[in-house]
Amino acid sequence: MLSKDTIARFGNLETPFYYYDLGLLDQTLETCRSAAEKFGFHVHYALKANFNEQVLQAVRKTGFGADCVSGNEVKKAIELGFDPGKVVFAGVGKSDKEIIEALNSDIYCFNVESVQELGIINGLAAERGKTARVAIRINPNVDAHTHQYITTGLEENKFGVNQWELNSCIKELKACPNLKLIGIHFHIGSQITNLEVFKSLCVKVNELNSWFEDHGYQLQILNVGGGLGVDYHAPDENSINDFESYFSIFDQFLERRNDQEVHFELGRALVAQCGSLISRILYVKNGLKKNFLILDAGMTELMRPALYQAYHKIENISSLSDVQVKYDVVGPICESTDCFGKEVELPESIRGDLMAIRTAGAYGEVMSSGYNLRERVKSVYS
Ligand SMILES: *Cc1c(COP(=O)(O)O)cnc(C)c1O
Repeated sequence: MLSKDTIARFGNLETPFYYYDLGLLDQTLETCRSAAEKFGFHVHYALKANFNEQVLQAVRKTGFGADCVSGNEVKKAIELGFDPGKVVFAGVGKSDKEIIEALNSDIYCFNVESVQELGIINGLAAERGKTARVAIRINPNVDAHTHQYITTGLEENKFGVNQWELNSCIKELKACPNLKLIGIHFHIGSQITNLEVFKSLCVKVNELNSWFEDHGYQLQILNVGGGLGVDYHAPDENSINDFESYFSIFDQFLERRNDQEVHFELGRALVAQCGSLISRILYVKNGLKKNFLILDAGMTELMRPALYQAYHKIENISSLSDVQVKYDVVGPICESTDCFGKEVELPESIRGDLMAIRTAGAYGEVMSSGYNLRERVKSVYS
């Protein structure tokens, strides 16, 4: 909930901007940390959800590791003080330059996404006299039951290696003296709200864990990725995920040896609810069939609605009217998909009103762009 004091502060600020409630962020991180500790689980934060420095500092202080998907994310995490021994690097297209830099930083693990990549990392590690720790990202063919654009664990997706390629992986590993296989990795999609999906994932992980044992590999790590969804419809009622229930599913259903570690890579669930995009109404257009609110923020600041038809709760945080009107809430960008919500019921709104687009802390600011030569969006904290 945006407090009256916070909203009063916004009155003097130039819009649009991201507002981060760092208190809520800390509470969320602490809830997750203590739940993970209870089960002895390890959490790496997926930087791609939000690499704003204040957010990263809060995550680092919690003691989480960093899950990176580009060389620059690896660099940034280490620059900001994350322990390289807690940095993992995934990504379906790691360039040689990115791999070399990560090798030079002695990161904890490469999550490898193809048989070919194993050979490339081995070669680059050999040239430097290093041994690279690797985990194989396996595509478990589990349907995440989420939006088609954010499901990643089906055989038709580009991510990871498929199960029928595991024999080739082992053959390749045997030919790669500068690689050490430490685990298997999975990430089946994002914004997963049906916890049954994670049970299905556990079943697959168990199967594959045994498969590796049968082939002579005692894996040290089972990395089950991220993907835990948040409540976009009720950000105030469900501002912090029930991390304990989430972890307890893995605790119950993952068969593991006592010395085997379970790793998670959470992004969205840690940072989504602490962020809102704050914007002002520039124009109100009353049409015959539709009323439009035209904001000073658009898809250049928050792309999720345009990119995945994602829902965000939209609030008029300054109107005092008790008349309710339906509006299409749109941005100023020259694209028809630049729309935050259709037929949104709001108090009657006027030019200059402040609007909050909620649950925008994950995949918001980080996806902002300079399209239409827009200014980079600013951020405000409390
Ligand atoms: C994006 C991503 C995550 C984080 O996903 P969330 O849905 O934000 O939790 C974790 N692991 C990998 C490999 C990813 O690409």
